[in-house]
Amino acid sequence: MLSSVLIANRGEIAVRVIRTAKRLGLRTIAVYSDADANAMHVKMADEAYPIGPAPARDSYLVIDRIISVAKQAMAEAIHPGYGFLSERAEFAEACAAAGIVFVGPPASAIRAMGLKDGAKALMQKAGVPVVPGYHGAMQDAKFLKEKAYEIGYPVLIKAVAGGGGKGMKRVDKAMDFEEALASAQREAQGAFGDPRVLIEKYVLSPRHIEIQVFGDTHGNVVHLFERDCSLQRRHQKVIEEAPAPGMPEAMRAAMGQAAVEAARAVGYVGAGTVEFIADGSAGLSPDKFWFMEMNTRLQVEHPVTEAITGQDLVEWQLRVASGERLPLLQDNLAINGHAVEARLYAEDPEKGFLPSTGKLHALEFGTADGVRIDTGVEEGAEVSPFYDPMIAKVIAHGATRDEALDRLGEALGGTVVAGPRTNVTFLKALTEADGFREGDFDTGFIDRNVEALGAVPQPMDARAAGYGVLKLIQNSIEKVEAFDAQGHAGPWSPLYADGFTLGATWSRSTRADLNGERVEARLNWSPAGPNVRLEGAESVSVPLVGEFKGFGPMGGFIFGDDIFPDDVRVIEAGDRVFVIRNGRQTEVRAFDPLDVDLDHLDGGGSVKAPMHGKVVQVFVEPGQQVEKGDRIAVIEAMKMEHTLVAPTGGTVTMVAVLAGEQVAEGAPVAAIEAAEEQGKAA
Ligand code: ADP
Repeated sequence: MLSSVLIANRGEIAVRVIRTAKRLGLRTIAVYSDADANAMHVKMADEAYPIGPAPARDSYLVIDRIISVAKQAMAEAIHPGYGFLSERAEFAEACAAAGIVFVGPPASAIRAMGLKDGAKALMQKAGVPVVPGYHGAMQDAKFLKEKAYEIGYPVLIKAVAGGGGKGMKRVDKAMDFEEALASAQREAQGAFGDPRVLIEKYVLSPRHIEIQVFGDTHGNVVHLFERDCSLQRRHQKVIEEAPAPGMPEAMRAAMGQAAVEAARAVGYVGAGTVEFIADGSAGLSPDKFWFMEMNTRLQVEHPVTEAITGQDLVEWQLRVASGERLPLLQDNLAINGHAVEARLYAEDPEKGFLPSTGKLHALEFGTADGVRIDTGVEEGAEVSPFYDPMIAKVIAHGATRDEALDRLGEALGGTVVAGPRTNVTFLKALTEADGFREGDFDTGFIDRNVEALGAVPQPMDARAAGYGVLKLIQNSIEKVEAFDAQGHAGPWSPLYADGFTLGATWSRSTRADLNGERVEARLNWSPAGPNVRLEGAESVSVPLVGEFKGFGPMGGFIFGDDIFPDDVRVIEAGDRVFVIRNGRQTEVRAFDPLDVDLDHLDGGGSVKAPMHGKVVQVFVEPGQQVEKGDRIAVIEAMKMEHTLVAPTGGTVTMVAVLAGEQVAEGAPVAAIEAAEEQGKAA
């Protein structure tokens, strides 16, 4: 066995690799960017070395720096994790040149599978079924359109260098072909620096089914069955499971064999995944699956395979990299039960899945039998805008698919995250969704059901807001800090209270920011208990539990510690509280009356960054006239671009950002003086 390994990655996968490496007695070496100095993987490793600034291209993607750290630390091997350098043949070669073992396949295999067109041609030669299409060198628009016609619509245009669903366009009719082609080429050029595309048949009712393969240096190749990753959003996996629902044994055998042949065709060693697309329109069948691509690394969703096979795939990787034989051969591998994995993301499904970064004021994972949590962050850590915003993978194993889904749902239901918004309720809804639950789904399932899954704007949770307001008022009174050092009345001074009466009813008003919206709130306390009324809304009762000890000296109320009912979690963080109820987060912030209200001053025409990110483009300059809806700037966060548009027509009075700059969530980007305001002023 190897004696040491450097993990050229971060987050949950670095943590996950370190865990197994330590168990096997290896010395573990972490690397970290400036943004990750206090990260979990850094704390867990035996040693850790800085490799540069936060942006991945300046740290986790710099081959030379990682190799020089590996030499300095005398690492015997490098595990690349997934993403970053894991599928870069030059990295595997640089390791070899430095005399370091690359925990992965030979550079030649990475290269052979690196481009979709070449990989497809190779697979076709090896007798592996490939989606009908054109994977040739000709890129002339007229020629490609003819090919699309021959293949038959609908077709899919894919970037040859593609990944992560970028540069991929579905075209349903010839009329739309040219435009889709141009857009796919543009995206491909932007994302990969390579505009070449291929055209293939768009498979109807597509199911994404992939096979885990493993090879060793002794000529053995096995498969560890399939994973179904059909629950996707924008071609990105959301929930993965193993085995695939409704998989006929004959198809499993055929796919397994095809995957092993694919691996053999490129001299594969280590962990890899062969991705297939299957036509699920009339149930799965052995003659209806086709090769899509091979990922020459460990996959995010590998834990579901570990759960059903009882194997540790990182251990397999390290053993194979040490020159050992595969721990088990095909006949000794079997499927036990069912496993499901959900990717818990810092993103807001109610706002188009916008990434949501920031500090994790609370992070607790629900538990259930057979549940495993893979994470790289802990309470108090930041979800950084620089990397993928995945918080954790929640993996549940059970005897049956229903049991696994129940357990996953239970674990998600008990998960509490305060700070960044997350997709936890969306994931929970998926575990219960009709259709998916019955195993009747394809890659379009989420898109067809966004509304039922709650991924649309939802009304404010008034009860949760009520609890938040109550907590803020309670705090203000308990602090009894009527004046600060300068003698100014603080926002919670009783001077701002608009009166209360002891006895029958006690009440107090305050202004608070509820999920960023400023409202007047009033807490009324009648003999029936407390209730909160938010501006323009009905009052909601906010019953408390625990012993009521009476009203305090400043008119406050005094309770035992646990005053909130079980279904409400109130998490304090400085001047704000996060109330979690039914998995949803409501943020209630104390409003300081001395704060200047920019929104009101600029006539509602302020454009703010909706999340932390990098400004990639600015379209306006001060003095420019804009129409409502005009583009103001593009911000990129976590590999996605978001266009900010003018909330109102008028004149741009201020531009606060430059292209290339980082911006924080909520930071001003530009201000527009509304046209009517100008009229008034003139
Ligand atoms: P990327 O490398 O960009 O992730 P893939 O080739 O792996 O692209 O495809 C990503 C997803 O796109 C698949 O999981 C599937 O949902 C969809 N897809 C790909 N090819 C087809 C096809 N021929 N027909 C229908 N859907 C497809």
